This record gives sequence, structure tokens and C-alpha cells, in this order.
Amino acid sequence: MNSIYNYSREKLDTYFLNKGLTKYRSTQVFEALYKQQVKDFFEITNLKIELREELSKDFSISSLDVVREQRSIDGTIKYLFGLEDKVLIETVLMKHNYGYSVCITTQAGCNMGCSFCASGLIKKQRNLTTAEMVLQVLEVDRRLKEEGKRVSHIVLMGIGEPFDNYENVIEFLKIVNYPKGLQIGSRHITVSTCGIVPKIYEFAEFPLQVNLAISLHFADDVKRSKYMKINKAYNIKDLMDALDYYIEKTNRRITFEYILLKDINDTLEDANNLVELIKNKNAYVNLIPYNDTNFFMRSTKEQTLKFYDYLKKNGINVTLRKEQGHDIDAACGQLRLKEVRCKA
Ligand code: SAH
Repeated sequence: MNSIYNYSREKLDTYFLNKGLTKYRSTQVFEALYKQQVKDFFEITNLKIELREELSKDFSISSLDVVREQRSIDGTIKYLFGLEDKVLIETVLMKHNYGYSVCITTQAGCNMGCSFCASGLIKKQRNLTTAEMVLQVLEVDRRLKEEGKRVSHIVLMGIGEPFDNYENVIEFLKIVNYPKGLQIGSRHITVSTCGIVPKIYEFAEFPLQVNLAISLHFADDVKRSKYMKINKAYNIKDLMDALDYYIEKTNRRITFEYILLKDINDTLEDANNLVELIKNKNAYVNLIPYNDTNFFMRSTKEQTLKFYDYLKKNGINVTLRKEQGHDIDAACGQLRLKEVRCKA
């Protein structure tokens, strides 16, 4: 049955208006689902019983099964969730000094084919529905609530390419941001893409002020095309043009993600290419220590610091991502991969 968590505020308004009821009914339903977090329409006691009956005929209040939970010593928790069709997805909760962030999976598997990324080792099976993304936040928020805490930040940096599941992601963003629901501030939400250029133009028109992160990782076309298939479809120039448009249109600063891979993209020449590419942009760089896989290794500490210093010296805003959950296979896709391989 159709999950109620697929419904953004506008869509639910339409449902009630079609029944000759007012939009206020959706406010009540949103508050019940996302604030009180009811699991049954009959718990929404401020709605007439007939309406509760109708809602439960038209929608389900779905949930996710927790297949496995791994806790890191630093407070990071990784959840492996099972979906209705037995697809497995993972969601990571991270504790920061500014709050709790959840890393969301947007697709089962991924077709982007970035060679260093564990997520892409399993091909895309399907897009996640809006409800399946909303539920990742809700299931984690429910657990935090028991300790008097809440999810304050969301990053769409789990398995999958958000812009390859654009419509569902947009609905998801509206739902989690909605002020009478989960109320995650738009500036506390980050969407990350490997660079699907047409969708960047489209996203520039999206009214919510969410953050955009670009998984750049390479500052020249030869290398980027070698390791990231998407660069063959949209090269660095196409990407930069789209970002210039996005920055001008939204007046928002973007983030470039740059994983440091030993002897592959971590030399000072690479750093210089990066400086030249982005020096005039309203952007900052997030350097990411790589979680080793079979084929790639992280840069040494020394080289990482050299790279960082070079950017800094050349006027680039740069941060070095603090590692979390290293002891629990933190890289996106690693836990799921393990589970799938164990079962195979
Ligand atoms: N497809 C989107 C969303 C996935 S984000 C995107 O590419 O942005 C996942 C992030 O984790 C990406 O920046 C990806 O490059 C990075 N990543 C992948 N494998 C990693 C690993 N082994 N160690 C650290 N980061 C990794």
C-alpha cells in the first residue's frame, strides 16, 4: 500500500482538498507523523474516527527493519535496514559537537561507477522511494528521542547518486524540512553529487536553501575521466559552468569533496590544479581521508598536510574531515557489501 511518508505537505493538501476538507488536516497529520511519531492512524486522536479509518484505507504507515546495528567507540552508529523487497540499505548516525547528523542512502546500489567507491561495487537495483529515505531519518530520530535528543543535520552521502533519483529526493527534502514536522533546517541539509550537470541547473531553481556538495576528487579531465565515469558524460568545464550558474542563481557557497588517494591525486601538482580550478569560486574544499579498499590507499599523513597547507597558502578555504566510525567500516557501502557477501 502507498506509504504516507511519500507525501510532501503539498501532496497531502491535495488529498484532503479532494475530499472537501481543509489543509489544516495535513498539518495535523504531519505533526502526528513527525512530531509525535505515531505508528498508527488511530493514534491521531484529534482527527474524527471516520477520517482515521479513511486514512488507514488509503495509506500505510510503513517502517524499516533493522537487520544490523554497529556502534563505534566514537559514538557513530551504522544501521543496516531491510526494505520490503529485502533490499538492504545503510544509514549512519554521527555525533558532532553541533548535533547529530544522519547520512542517508538514496539508491539501492549505484551506477555512477567511481572506481574508488565501495558503494558502486553493487550495481543499482532501484531508486529508493521518498518514504524509504524519510524513514531512515525517522527511525534514527525515534531512537534519539528516547534519550531526549534529535537529528539536527542530514547529508545525502550514503549509497547512491541523489541526482539520479531526483524527483524522490526533492520530495524527501521538502518533507524533512517542513517546519511542523521533523524541522531540519535547510542549511543543515547537504546534497552530494558526483556531477550530473543538467540536474545541477535544475537544482539551482529549487527554493530551499540546502547545501550542495560536489564529489570532485580530481582537478584535471584525464584523471577524473579515468576514475569517475561521469566525467566522460560531463567534463570538468561543463561541471564548472553549471556550478557558476548555481552559485550566481542561489548565492550559496558550495563544497568540493576531495578524497586523498595515495600517489593518485595527492601531489602538489594536483593541489595546484585544484587551486587554479576553483580559486575564484564561492566554495570551500573538504579534504577526506580515504577508507582503504582493495585497490586504493589513503594518502600519508605527511602528504595530506602538505596538500592542505598548499591550498590554505593559496587562499582556498579548506577543511580536513574528521574521521568517524573508522572501526565500523565507515565508508559508504562497506557494511552493506559485507552483509551481501556474507549471504552470497
Ligand atoms: N553519489 C554522490 C553521493 C555519495 S557521497 C556523490 O558522489 O557525491 C559518498 C561520498 O563518499 C563521495 O564523496 C564519495 O566519493 C566518498 N567515498 C566513496 N568511497 C570512499 C572511501 N572508501 N573513503 C572515503 N570516502 C569515500
